[in-house]
Amino acid sequence: MRNVDHTHMREMNIALILETLRRDAPLSRTRLAQLTGLNKATVTSLVRELLESDFVHESGTDAGDVGRPAIHLNLNPQAGYIIGAEIGVDFVLVILTNFAGEVVWRRREITRRHERQETVLDLLESMLQDACQEAHAHDRRLLGLGLGVPGLVDVAAGTVLFAPNLGWADVRLKARLQRKFKLPIEVANEANLAALGESYFGAARGVNFVLYVSAGVGLGGGIVLNREVLPGATGFAGEVGHMTMDPNGPQCNCGNFGCWETFVSQWAFIRRVREAVESGQASSLTTTCGGDWDRLTVSDVVEAARAGDSVARAAFAETGRYLGIGLANLINALNPERVVFGGALSLGHEFLMPSLTTEVERRALRASRDKAEIVVATYGVDASVMGGIATIFHRILSQPLDVTRAEAVSPPTGAARR
Ligand SMILES: [Zn+2]
Repeated sequence: MRNVDHTHMREMNIALILETLRRDAPLSRTRLAQLTGLNKATVTSLVRELLESDFVHESGTDAGDVGRPAIHLNLNPQAGYIIGAEIGVDFVLVILTNFAGEVVWRRREITRRHERQETVLDLLESMLQDACQEAHAHDRRLLGLGLGVPGLVDVAAGTVLFAPNLGWADVRLKARLQRKFKLPIEVANEANLAALGESYFGAARGVNFVLYVSAGVGLGGGIVLNREVLPGATGFAGEVGHMTMDPNGPQCNCGNFGCWETFVSQWAFIRRVREAVESGQASSLTTTCGGDWDRLTVSDVVEAARAGDSVARAAFAETGRYLGIGLANLINALNPERVVFGGALSLGHEFLMPSLTTEVERRALRASRDKAEIVVATYGVDASVMGGIATIFHRILSQPLDVTRAEAVSPPTGAARR
């Protein structure tokens, strides 16, 4: 029993050191002891272990101190590579980062909407294979794979239960990938991952209570409390897009009517442009899409809005209005410290924000509204893959013993060759 306690304590202390270094490095051992509240001897001994396992490295000295100059400690960016991936409705994205979260390799492939599931999964596996090769070429160990999908995920099993925008149900994704890639694998909802990614590396770094809302093909969200995504009772918290905004509204992909998503998704946004043009308003976007509205992207509309196109600007203003109404509800319900707004629509934040903030000002309770700072996501469309990286990072920081033990680390050749 005492042994278990000791191991647990040691693990918690290692996690604390890694997290403190992630947040505040470079730090001397003395400063690390002060910030963590651990005694100097404990810090020295645990840092020695982390240096041996390569997770931490020494860099330079602090000449300003009295007495012996203190050596700086940092997380070692070359401690290993992490793979982040996302299956989108019309793309697959895979990136590779070092242990500092810096992207070292990136590949994005377009898929057709409603592409066969098998085709998408084959593409994903071949891209993951390439990422493994890349790590191998640089002689880096792989620390794990974090994968985001747009739907409800049983995180413990790594199973996609229901992904309405992909048309998938009950896909045992983790089990399938685990057969080919001998790595720690985490599968989660893409918006939940994006929320974590922004908390770890982006616009909500250092913030304890974060509401993340992502508007793209769907409208998803994630709530992060102390760097953990709030899972809810069974892991499905954060499905903000399916709050009812209008009981008589259009039918949503989930089956319900008038969900917030039907007013704010990318499709709702493009529909506003189309309807304005069809009602006779002049817009440069008519020529941009050449009559095929499905081809029109958010970037096209951003460009038009920047050039002064009034249809484009009105579509952003109206979408921002609905975004603001939903956000005001969520701010009232949750009282978040920061609201991060991401996804494809955030590309047009300069045109969305004015009407969005007007609605929040008008509808949210003052006490909550004053605290909630609304910011644009750092990673935009890359937020979910950065969240995939963050889940693996989080796993290492919270259960470092699993990883620092050499045998638990997969070599870069861990991926099976086909
Ligand atoms: Zn819905």
